[in-house]
Amino acid sequence: MVKEIIHDPILLKIQSKDAVLEDLQIAKDLAETLETHKGGCVGMAANMIGIHKRIIAFYDNDKIVTMFNPEIISKSQPYETKEGCLSLLGEPRPVTRYKSIKVRYQDKYMKFHEKRFSGFTAQIIQHEIDHCDGILI
Ligand SMILES: [Zn+2]
Repeated sequence: MVKEIIHDPILLKIQSKDAVLEDLQIAKDLAETLETHKGGCVGMAANMIGIHKRIIAFYDNDKIVTMFNPEIISKSQPYETKEGCLSLLGEPRPVTRYKSIKVRYQDKYMKFHEKRFSGFTAQIIQHEIDHCDGILI
């Protein structure tokens, strides 16, 4: 189900808790909500729809990927960039990101994976994992 986007920075700064198998519906809602905002938004974290669980959804080459409990286990090549956020009003804000990251996450069956991402996809994942930690750009 498509959910409403949260804009309250106080709510967005709450750290999300680990997601479990029973949270699968949240991941589905998140993916559907992201799809609705296609064009203006490339990724979302569950707290953006008001649920403080570590679930993210993002576009990777035009396909939506969802991850449970993603964490960055290595990163390299920092650079400065600017980002916008569907939850925040105003101009894009400066932020430091890494060109290459390795992410450990669980899929919808709670199976663990480790995968390397680079470029724009890596940037989106970093932004969404920040959301899980209550960090806003
Ligand atoms: Zn955001």
